[in-house]
Amino acid sequence: MTTPDRPEYAPIPPSALGPAVNDQGYYVGRVERNLYYVTDSVYQAAFLATRDGVVMFDAPPSIGHNLQRAVDEVAAAEGVSNKVTHLVYSHHHDDHSGASSIFGGDVVRIGHEETKRLLLRDGNPARPAPDITFADTYTLEVGGERVELAWHGPNHSPDNIYIHFPGHDTLMFIDVVNAGWVPIYNTNLSEDVPGYMAAPAIALSYPWTHFICGHLGRLATRDDVAVHQQYIADIEASAQEALASVDPVPFYTAAWPNFWAGVKAHLDTVTERTAAPVVAKYTGVLAAADIEIFTYTTSFAIMQSLRLDRGPSGPVHP
Ligand SMILES: [Zn+2]
Repeated sequence: MTTPDRPEYAPIPPSALGPAVNDQGYYVGRVERNLYYVTDSVYQAAFLATRDGVVMFDAPPSIGHNLQRAVDEVAAAEGVSNKVTHLVYSHHHDDHSGASSIFGGDVVRIGHEETKRLLLRDGNPARPAPDITFADTYTLEVGGERVELAWHGPNHSPDNIYIHFPGHDTLMFIDVVNAGWVPIYNTNLSEDVPGYMAAPAIALSYPWTHFICGHLGRLATRDDVAVHQQYIADIEASAQEALASVDPVPFYTAAWPNFWAGVKAHLDTVTERTAAPVVAKYTGVLAAADIEIFTYTTSFAIMQSLRLDRGPSGPVHP
């Protein structure tokens, strides 16, 4: 794939890009045996083509009807059914599930109990609530294949689950690691920052070779998860150093009595101190690391989590 010249940003490393999409705008690739992934180069879904029907994992609206086209293509080539019988939700977010309803009402939908609660709360008919829910773990068996679903606490969203394919040497875990790319704004739009920071270690505790991360064009490796983990660890260490070394008092003194102006000046300085060395280190390593707003907002989120979740938020007044 060739990339246009965008002089305002660093070039995207070719290793961060996936295969070219076809004329319909999708690529379907075998992960292992009868497990496949589908991508439009930005979003990813997966499916198992079993002897008893197809199990779909997520339904991003950006891929939409190309999901069934990808299934049809594989089913024709492999001589198996193209009927989607099951759909597993990784989490409730619409950008990964908004094409769910195109598979109709007969599909058995499976998701975490919190996914059901949130989908019912949001009330979008494009994303029917799951028929089968679970709290901690669920084993899905279809057509002689086994998939292990597990919830290990909130991270990117309150309901984001780990989808392990023990017979396919694969883990699917969405919206935490972007293979070869930096997370976008605010720890990849995550709700629980400590959970987000701890999730890669949980992912790596599973045995797998292939990782379906939900975004961009290619599958991820254990190395991709480790590089992401190091990026987050570097932000954490940098934030700790910045919090310890930037004295807040002069900012508040200078801004007095506009206390919020003092907050802004102080936290902007800590964020800048946190993010700048990380942007420098990862530019050329992770794609889009030079789009500074991503690392800045992630640095801000982690720095605030260190203060508010982990503490201390500041000294106790004598
Ligand atoms: Zn999401």
